[in-house]
Amino acid sequence: MSDLTDPEIQVWQDLESSARSLLARYAFHEIRTPVLEYAAVFERSLGDTTDVVQKEMYTFEDRGKRRITLRPEGTAGVMRHVASMGQEAQDARFYYIGPMFRSERPQAGRRRQFHQLGAEAIGAACAAADVEMLAMQWHLLTEWGLKDCRIEINTRGLPTDHDRVADGLRAALDPVKDRLCEDCLRRYASNPLRILDCKRPSCKALVVDLPPVSSLMSEEARAYLATVCAGLDRLSLPYVQNPNLVRGLDYYVHTVWEITHTGLGAQDALAGGGRYRMSMGNRTLEGVGFAMGLERVIAALESQGGERAARPAPVWLVAQNETAFMENMVLMQTLRMRGVACGMDMQQRSIKAQMRLANRRHCRWVIIRGEQEMEKGLFVLKDMESGVQEELDMPNLLERFLSLQLTHADSRTTSSGAKTSTR
Ligand code: AMP
Repeated sequence: MSDLTDPEIQVWQDLESSARSLLARYAFHEIRTPVLEYAAVFERSLGDTTDVVQKEMYTFEDRGKRRITLRPEGTAGVMRHVASMGQEAQDARFYYIGPMFRSERPQAGRRRQFHQLGAEAIGAACAAADVEMLAMQWHLLTEWGLKDCRIEINTRGLPTDHDRVADGLRAALDPVKDRLCEDCLRRYASNPLRILDCKRPSCKALVVDLPPVSSLMSEEARAYLATVCAGLDRLSLPYVQNPNLVRGLDYYVHTVWEITHTGLGAQDALAGGGRYRMSMGNRTLEGVGFAMGLERVIAALESQGGERAARPAPVWLVAQNETAFMENMVLMQTLRMRGVACGMDMQQRSIKAQMRLANRRHCRWVIIRGEQEMEKGLFVLKDMESGVQEELDMPNLLERFLSLQLTHADSRTTSSGAKTSTR
């Protein structure tokens, strides 16, 4: 777990704000669910035999002796909410951005608190919805500037296929059963599909020769996968079919996918997604969704190199005496209320100390006011980049900053805009 602050927080804010605007274009609405839920919300929906439920949840008893879990993923909480909705639950479209918690052994790319951006579209199984979800996710990754991503897709089939797939895999693995790792021996009995997901090289070598799971499934499951692939082809989305792709959670039906990035090393999954069917209270809910790890998105962007756009430095106000100090307080408030990011030294230190602060904050502009300027009703504006100073009156000063839009919100326009106007 770690604190997030400048300068990385700027990258987070930029990613989040471009995501929010893109998701709105696809008619998704934000949902913020509690970070704590009853443990049962996850145990029932994710499945008792999954790694997340068995090994990774932070579950504890609260003062009222209730079993509480820090959310390890976002879908279950969203579905708990959807289950409480009326008719409009049928085609609800939600997205979330927030922290998730898993008690894993920390390593590169694996944290105990990490952040996910996820989206869920509720509705009956239809391949077009899965295609739309993948297209949106691909669009988002492209908008963020990620290159070298890879979509792998597979099918989980229908619940009625699960027993047949499990039996087929057990039969195929039977001759090599004694070479499976301890975890996979347990999975052989409880959920043999998960053996395909084992990261141990010895188990990986055993599963390469297995028949693709789709060949063990019903015609309906295979046809659904083919329709999804045709849709992805039509939209020219690059993907590969990976017959050994297994998503770790039990609620999936039909399409499952994972998106990886070549710059990430061993933990190369940026995102996972798929169609799911989940029982919540007395309702069965179906939907399609994905979850993307934001730490990994940022690591992937860093692996691609490239410069981060710097945040615009605020304007700094410098006062040579007490009267100018109070007048600068008034000016600072005016500028801030007009949307200009600015600041000043509150301790009324020497001019030298005030200029030092301006430098430390990488301010592009400094407004200096002393006795003479106060008498003339003027301001000295210093461009810290070129060193050029000029005298301006209030209307000109305001006009200058407002036309430059020196706000924190729009970094790119600001830094380039500021340059052009001084030349
Ligand atoms: P999952 O539902 O486990 O596939 O998680 C979806 C995405 O969240 C993964 O593809 C990762 O990008 C990210 N993620 C999952 N677990 C962690 C973790 N412990 N630390 C950092 N990112 C994670």
